[in-house]
Amino acid sequence: MSTLKEKIIKPDEITKYMDGDRDFIDDGAIERTLAQHCDPDPTQVRDILAKSRAVETLTPDETAVLLHVEDPELLEEMRQTAREVKLKVYDNRIVTFAPLYMSNLCVNNCAYCGFRTGNPDAVRRKLSMDEVRRETEALAGEIGHKRLIVVYGEHPETGAEYIADTIRTVYDVEVPVRHGKGCIRRVNINAAPMSIDDLRMLHDVGIGTFQVFQETYHHDTYASLHPADTIKGDYRWRLYCMHRAFEAGVDDVGIGTLFGLYDWRFEVMGLLQHARELEDKFNIGPHTISFPRLEPAGGSPLTRHPRHRVSDEDFRRLVTVLRLAVPYTGLIITARESAELRDEVLVHGCTQTDASTRIGIGAYSETDEDQHEERQQFMLGDTRSLEELIVALAEKGIITSFCTAGYRCGRTGECIMDLLRTGQEGRFCKLNAVLTFREWLDDFASEEARTLCEPVVQQEIAEIRERVPQVYEKFMEHYHRTAAGARD
Ligand code: SAM
Ligand code: SF4
Repeated sequence: MSTLKEKIIKPDEITKYMDGDRDFIDDGAIERTLAQHCDPDPTQVRDILAKSRAVETLTPDETAVLLHVEDPELLEEMRQTAREVKLKVYDNRIVTFAPLYMSNLCVNNCAYCGFRTGNPDAVRRKLSMDEVRRETEALAGEIGHKRLIVVYGEHPETGAEYIADTIRTVYDVEVPVRHGKGCIRRVNINAAPMSIDDLRMLHDVGIGTFQVFQETYHHDTYASLHPADTIKGDYRWRLYCMHRAFEAGVDDVGIGTLFGLYDWRFEVMGLLQHARELEDKFNIGPHTISFPRLEPAGGSPLTRHPRHRVSDEDFRRLVTVLRLAVPYTGLIITARESAELRDEVLVHGCTQTDASTRIGIGAYSETDEDQHEERQQFMLGDTRSLEELIVALAEKGIITSFCTAGYRCGRTGECIMDLLRTGQEGRFCKLNAVLTFREWLDDFASEEARTLCEPVVQQEIAEIRERVPQVYEKFMEHYHRTAAGARD
């Protein structure tokens, strides 16, 4: 194991980004900042909310203030401001994706994960390219997904070459659907931290967002959950992987923590520090932030009784504070959470979610719809289909966007950050959201879902006429062509 660890980790690809011998997460400083602001003053809170409305990243002090608000009225004001910020930056759009688990081979032994090497009950499997094709056909041809997040354990058999092969295979798939062809247009990836060379290889096959969660920013907790002789035992190899990703040319990176491992307020501060560090060094913050909560995993008692369990109420608060602290960033909520909680935070701050989710390896092309603990990393809280989710959101006036045009025409990285900060992204994407939603409804939805979603389509068209009258006529030409079955 230690030779594998030495082969993978390149110490100079950590130290080159550090100031001396310290990394940018100072546990003591975070604890002190939190302690200083445990009794927030309402006037100060309202000043901070004004800064969020201006789409400015908050400071650690400001974030610590918001994290301690207990007064129900102030909390409600924060929630409403978070909603305003979300509408300003992202409009009333939600982006959906599906996770596709490629392999659960893993050499690490993370105490909370069903894939860890010490779990003898895990049924190990890595998909062949034929299987990847079949999974993609089910996702793009039957369900109508356009975006995936592909997920891997860490293992020499599933290194960067395997990952690159699987992504090429996904992009190659085209399946006939009612009108035109179904295909995946954006493949995001959640995999182990890599070297700059490996990340360059992935950049070259056209990955979307490169996502790695730090799990916990708290150094001692991290050390207690990830054995030191494993690759994942190196906190800093993980902490600096987004620096390497930017250096390798990857435009969009996604950070996150696994909530339930340590104090949730500390973790929000860690995420903020990470975002600020990337803004500072590369002028681009994270494209997305994820905040999974610990779910029960096969053979892991820790996941059944987490020491730092985050209640639903605290979870709502952490989403609100993240929306306010890093206002331009996409926030991802996953099917780990229950349907009710998911729908709620999608209104108040989150921008992306998965649907029709299956996390067993090879599960999309199988007919068995049950969840199996021995084949999954953890158990899901919400197994609604994409159609069910879309209808539930449409009933709340939210439109699901299948647009990936931003990426195809280069609106990624620094460029998209500017659009997001100035609130232009929201408007820019409205037109594509309506057109791609129309496509999805006509290519994949049931008659009933189409009827239920029609009001949200009409509401969006009316808004386009009112907010961007100069493009309305041209837009309607496109819309009628799309509704008649034309596809680009
Ligand atoms: N193996 C890679 C790694 O660890 O970075 C990436 C894939 S891992 C399968 C994706 C994420 O799942 C992890 O980063 C962790 O945050 C999350 N995860 C692991 N165990 C979990 C659990 N019991 N409940 C919820 N999320 C979990
Ligand atoms: Fe392996 Fe990732 Fe699970 Fe850790 S979290 S055991 S690295 S798959």
